[in-house]
Formats: sequence, structure tokens, C-alpha cells
Amino acid sequence: MPRKLDPETRKQLFTRVNYYRDMGIYDFYRRPATEDMQMLSPEESEPPVTIAGPAASLYDAPLSVIKDKPTALKAIREDIGDCTRCRLHKGRTNIVFGVGNVNTDLMFVGEGPGADEDAQGEPFVGRAGQLLNNMITAMGLKREDVYIANVVKCRPPGNRTPEKDECDTCIPFLLRQIEVIQPKVIVALGAVAAKNLLAINDSMANLRGRWYDFKGSKLAVTYHPAYLLRDPRQKKEAWKDLQMVMKYLGLTPPAKSVEE
Ligand code: URA
Repeated sequence: MPRKLDPETRKQLFTRVNYYRDMGIYDFYRRPATEDMQMLSPEESEPPVTIAGPAASLYDAPLSVIKDKPTALKAIREDIGDCTRCRLHKGRTNIVFGVGNVNTDLMFVGEGPGADEDAQGEPFVGRAGQLLNNMITAMGLKREDVYIANVVKCRPPGNRTPEKDECDTCIPFLLRQIEVIQPKVIVALGAVAAKNLLAINDSMANLRGRWYDFKGSKLAVTYHPAYLLRDPRQKKEAWKDLQMVMKYLGLTPPAKSVEE
């Protein structure tokens, strides 16, 4: 008889599993049920847990299903829900979750949605996004080859920098996305992404130009495309960062460098 957990136990299990996953432990094994485990009778037991329904979440998913990346990402999106966890929800049109190839080796992380992203519900679709696309192309890849997400998923009013408490509230979802995707390389675009992922408060000059170990991935820091639009002279510096990433991933250097 399959053992059914009551809702409170399932909630505690979910919290515990997330705690282990934060520590980098992903594999779990079930011990066979023993006499001292409290079993629910068929009358008491709920219907079997499935993930088939649209309302299914990671909370409900059997642990074995967590390895299915689209399902796990869908569960994270469902956990975000119609989020009101921080003040950014007040001005948003769309939650901008993330987009791209879930099996990618390369993930880009930006700061937060701007007006275009808020309107379309997709990260980096405005001018900065166009430049990011060009950077990706210059690496010999297509936008569809990589995964793109942000630290905060709702647009800060007037495109201001997200506040610390807003980043702190939202970043667990990004960390879970990274955990599911497990890219070989994460590129932090700009100081907000770098500082929030690495929990280091340093200048971009100091943060760039080296590798960081990050939850089983390598992390590199480069300039945010919006900054490069404001100061195009820095593009050659950004290109150095991307070349470091390309070398690590074994990508063929293209003939042409980053163009706006
Ligand atoms: N800037 C970001 O940091 N993220 C986006 O999605 C768009 C612009």
C-alpha cells in the first residue's frame, strides 16, 4: 500500500528538501516503510499525488520528478504564483520568469525586467536585450541555446535598481531555477546580478575577470548590456569576459566581436 503523507508532513518534507537542496544535496532515497511508521488507512488516505494537473507544484511532486527540468521549472513558476511578496508587484504587468533552453550549458542573469520585458513577460527583449542577443551571437550561439533570467521578476518602477529587500525576497526563485537548469556557466550581467548571486559587495572592476564556483556551476561577471549601451567603449572589456566563457565552454571564437 503506498504511504500517503498528511498535508502538514508533506509541507515539512518540502521545506526539508529545499533546505538540503540549498546545501547542494539533490539525490534522495526512500527507505522501505517500517513498522514504527504511522500508516494511514485507505479511508484516511488522500488520492495519489500526481503532477498531471495544472495546479501541481513541486510541493506535490514526487521527488523522482524533480529531475524533469520543465516540470521542476513549472513548479517554481507555480510557487511564485500571482506574487505579492514585495512591493514590486504593485506596478507590474507580467511576472518575468525566465526563458530559453533548459538543458543549456550557459545561463545569463540580469537585474530585473524593464518596460518591454514587463509588457511581454520575457527577459531582455528591449534595447538591452537586442545587445544581449548580439553578444550571444558573437559567442557563436543563438538566444534559444541559452537560458535567461533575472534577480527580480517584477519591473521596478521607472526601471530603478531593485532594493535589497526586493532582491532578497525574489532571489530564492532564481536559485531554484539555477539548481534545476544546472548550467556549466552562469554569466552575471552587471553589479546587481553579481552582488546578489555572490553575496559580495565589490566594484565591477574587481568582480570581473575571474571565475567563481557557484553551486556546481562556474560563474563569470560582465557588464550589463544597458551599461554597454551607455558606454560602448566598455564593449571590448565585456568581450574579454565572454571570451573567457567561450574558452571554458569550448565554443569556437567567431570572426567578429560584439557589435551593438
Ligand atoms: N535588464 C535586465 O536586467 N533584465 C531584463 O530582463 C531587461 C533589462
